[in-house]
Amino acid sequence: MAGTAVRGRLTWQTATVGAVMDETPAVRTLVLSVPDWAGHRAGQHLDIRLTADDGYRAERSYSIASAPGEPVAITVERLDDGEVSPYLTQDVQPGDEIEIRGPIGGYFVWEATSTAPVLLLAGGSGVVPLRAMLRHRARAGSSVPVRLLYSARSLAEVIYRAELAAEPDGVEVIYTLTRQQPPDWTGYARRADQAMIAEVAWPVARAPLAYVCGPTNFVEAVAADLVALGYPPQRVKTERFGATGTP
Ligand SMILES: Cc1cc2nc3c(=O)[nH]c(=O)nc-3n(C[C@H](O)[C@H](O)[C@H](O)COP(=O)(O)OP(=O)(O)OC[C@H]3O[C@@H](n4cnc5c(N)ncnc54)[C@H](O)[C@@H]3O)c2cc1C
Repeated sequence: MAGTAVRGRLTWQTATVGAVMDETPAVRTLVLSVPDWAGHRAGQHLDIRLTADDGYRAERSYSIASAPGEPVAITVERLDDGEVSPYLTQDVQPGDEIEIRGPIGGYFVWEATSTAPVLLLAGGSGVVPLRAMLRHRARAGSSVPVRLLYSARSLAEVIYRAELAAEPDGVEVIYTLTRQQPPDWTGYARRADQAMIAEVAWPVARAPLAYVCGPTNFVEAVAADLVALGYPPQRVKTERFGATGTP
């Protein structure tokens, strides 16, 4: 309508940082107060834009860590040589303002109305949008069975550890710790491979839905393993965080 400002999800707007929670020594969750938020779906992301005093701008994407209906939250892992993540994990304080746009993405989403068994596969901070799906499941009262295979370098680097330990019946959380394991560790202790995924995955006959998220090399390897096991490619949804890494 002429003269009316229509704010789309791709319009930049100012969000105010609310609570800030340390998840691990290198990972922090920021709750954001966004005045003009149209609501989001589990699995979507938003973009953040930072502008330096000299006008230099950097833009990065972050998955939304909270369920639909919860305040918007993101969980950021610090890459020490990174441009944006050190700022978000070390410098930002409650009350600070940051520019965001979103929610973005309509493909890597899970709806609680879905009845298919869900297989979630996370590499490192790739657990963030999957956590939004778990929270959505809980809030919506869904009882679809879920398995989460979470690859992390060590137990200390597991994000949302206490929350995942408290998941109800119907949600199985399986870890593989790739670099360092506690002395009494009985779980997987290697990078995710086809044999591991075959053990963890729902049988293809149950028509499961899979969501794979993390560094690009993790996502590509795991998705290829699922397809090799007989998962139809359209039932394997992927979200690549970029770069490579060994979660
Ligand atoms: C859709 C989407 C959702 C994302 N969601 C999240 C999220 O929920 N939490 C989160 O922490 N990040 C997430 N990311 C990654 C995020 O956008 C940034 O790439 C990341 O925070 C690094 O930015 P930076 O400016 O600190 O590092 P940069 O300055 O961009 O890079 C610094 C160095 O780290 C390497 N690098 C860049 N990205 C990664 C990576 N992901 N893993 C390993 N090495 C890397 C680069 O090659 C470079 O050497 C997401 C990315 C996408 C595309």
